[in-house]
Amino acid sequence: MKTDLGGVNVPALRSHNAALVLDLLRTAGAAGISRLELAERTGLTPQAVSKITARLRAEGLAEEAGHRASTGGKPRTVLRLVPSAGYAVGVHLDRDELTTLLADLAGAVVTLRRRPLGLGEGTGSVLDAVTEDVRRVLAEAPGPVLGAGVAMPGPLDHRAGVPGRVTGFPQWAGHPVREELARRLALPVVLDKDTNAAALGLAVRPGAPGSFAYVHLGTGLGAGLVLGGAPLRGDRTGAGELGHQTVLLDGPPCDCGGRGCLEVLCLAAVGRGEPAEAARILGAGAANLVRLLDIDQVLLGGRVVLAAPEVFAAGVREVLAGLGLTTPVTVAAERDAVARGAAWLTLAPVFGK
Ligand SMILES: [Zn+2]
Repeated sequence: MKTDLGGVNVPALRSHNAALVLDLLRTAGAAGISRLELAERTGLTPQAVSKITARLRAEGLAEEAGHRASTGGKPRTVLRLVPSAGYAVGVHLDRDELTTLLADLAGAVVTLRRRPLGLGEGTGSVLDAVTEDVRRVLAEAPGPVLGAGVAMPGPLDHRAGVPGRVTGFPQWAGHPVREELARRLALPVVLDKDTNAAALGLAVRPGAPGSFAYVHLGTGLGAGLVLGGAPLRGDRTGAGELGHQTVLLDGPPCDCGGRGCLEVLCLAAVGRGEPAEAARILGAGAANLVRLLDIDQVLLGGRVVLAAPEVFAAGVREVLAGLGLTTPVTVAAERDAVARGAAWLTLAPVFGK
C-alpha cells in the first residue's frame, strides 16, 4: 500500500502510535474513549497520548465527546473519531454488476450506486463505467477523499494492481487496472480480490474474531482469509482460492483447467435450483478450511447465500457438525460487503491495519 494519499493530511500514516490511537477512537464509536483508557490500551505514556490526541484534534480527526464520571477523581474528557474528516470510494466490479459507494472515515456508507455491467463487455467500456460512477459518488463527497479501493474476481496481483486470468474473462489478464483508474480518477487506487476486500471490511468491525474465513458464493466461489487479525493474501495474492480446490477427482471440467472444483460443483447445484445441495458442497469446502487453518469462525456471504441465508447456514453447520467441528457459522448479511470492504482497502492503513 502506498502512503501517498493525494495530498490529504493523514497523520496516522506518518506515525504508528497515532494510527493505534486513531483505531481505538474508531472502535470506541460515538461514545468515545478517555485519554487514560487510550494510554492503558496502547501502552503509551499519558503524555504521549496527550500529544497525539492534541495533534489529531488540531487536524480535525478527533474531537471531544463530553465527559465521563470516573471513580474518585475528576470527570474524564472522552474523545472520539470525526468520521467526516475523510472519505473513501469502494468499488465492487462483479461479473455482472457494478457497485460503487462512498464511505466516511468510520466506514459508514454515505452514498451508493449500482448498475448491471458485464465484466466481459471489454476492459475499455467497463473501466469507462467505473470511472463514470466513481465520479458521480465523488461529486457527493462532503469532504476530502483519500482514494478508491476496487474489488474484482481473482486471480489478480494486489501489489501490482493487475488482474490475472479471471475465469471466463481472459481479456482482463495483465490489464493495468489500478494504474489506469488512478490516472483517470486522479486518486490513489488499490486493487484486490472481491473476497479479500469483504474479509478486510469484516475484520475491522469492532468485536470481529481474530481468525476467520469469509466464504463468498455469488457469481463465483472464493474465500477471504483473516488470520491473527490481518488478511492473508499470499505473496502472489493467490491465497483463498477455495473455489478451485478439487473435491471430486475426474469430476466435471472447470475453466481454471482443473476438474471437480468446488466452484463448478457448487454453481451447478445452484443452477439446478438445489440450494441445500449447494450448501452441502459449500460445507465441504468450509470444513476443509476449518481443518486446515483452525479458524474461529466461518462467515458466509455473497448474493446466492443471501437469497437463502438459513439454508446455507444450516447446510454448512450440518457438514461441520457431522465432522465434529464446532466452529460457529454465521451469515455476513450486508448485501454490499465487498464494496464496503473495498473502501476499507483505502481506509485501513489510516488505522494501521
Ligand atoms: Zn477450477
